[in-house]
Amino acid sequence: MRTPLVIGNWKMHGTVVEARALTTAIRDGLKRPRGVQVVVCPPFTALAAVSEVLGGSPIQLGAQTCHHEPAGAHTGEVSVPMLAELTCRWTLVGHSERRKEIGESDEVINLKVRAVLSHGLTPVLCVGETGDERRQGLTFNTVEGQLRAGLAGLAGEQIAKTVLAYEPVWAIGTGANATPAQAAEVQGYLRGLLSELASKEIAQTVRILYGGSVKAENADALLAEPEVDGALVGGASLNAQAFIGIVRKAARVGTAGKE
Ligand code: PEP
Repeated sequence: MRTPLVIGNWKMHGTVVEARALTTAIRDGLKRPRGVQVVVCPPFTALAAVSEVLGGSPIQLGAQTCHHEPAGAHTGEVSVPMLAELTCRWTLVGHSERRKEIGESDEVINLKVRAVLSHGLTPVLCVGETGDERRQGLTFNTVEGQLRAGLAGLAGEQIAKTVLAYEPVWAIGTGANATPAQAAEVQGYLRGLLSELASKEIAQTVRILYGGSVKAENADALLAEPEVDGALVGGASLNAQAFIGIVRKAARVGTAGKE
C-alpha cells in the first residue's frame, strides 16, 4: 500500500514571521500524524525559519523549485545542495506556474528531476493539461508528453524514488477541482505509463498526488480514489486548520486502506 502524502505549496506567500506562525500552528495541530506523510514547501526566504520550527517534528520540508546545477553563475537561483543544507528533503519540479510564467521547458524539468535525485532528495514532478487542452481532447497527450520528457533517461530505480502530481492547470487556484473520476482516469493513465517506463512493480509503488483546488470539503472524495495517493495543496495550505483537516482525511484513508 502506498502511504498517502499531503504537500502544502505556499507559493509566494508569507514573510518569515508569517511562515513561522503558520508552521507552528501546523506542527502543533499535527503532533503525531499517523498513516500519512506531510510536507510543507514555503518560499525560499522562509526555509531556514520553517526548518527550525519543524525541529524534530515528523513534518518534512520541501522547496517549490530548484536549479539543476549544484553551483554557478545563475543569478537568483537556488541549487539542490543549498536546499539540502536547509534540511529540505523534497522539491516540486515543473509546477505549471513555473512552466507558464518562467517558461520552464520539459528538458530543463528533466535536468531538475535528475539533479534532485542525484542529491538524494525526492522530486515531485508536476504534470497537467490546460482547460483548452482538455476541451480539445488533448489531456492524455499533454500529460504523457510531460511525463515522458520529465522522466527521460531515468532508470527504473530512479523512477521509483519520484513522486508525481497530476495538477490540471484549469483546477489550480480556481476553486474548480477535477472530479474524483477525472483525477482517477488521468492518474490511472500515468500509472500505466510508469509501468512501461519502469516496471509494473515500480509503477505500483510510485505515489501520484492530485492537485487543484483541494480543500477539506472535497478531499474525502478525491482521496478515496485508489489512484489518488495524496494531495498537493496550494491555497488551502495557507490556513493551518484547513491544511490539518486535509491531512487528517488523508490519514484516515491511509489507515483504513482502499478497496
Ligand atoms: C498548486 O499550486 O499546486 C495548487 C494545487 O493550488 P490550489 O490548491 O490553490 O489550487
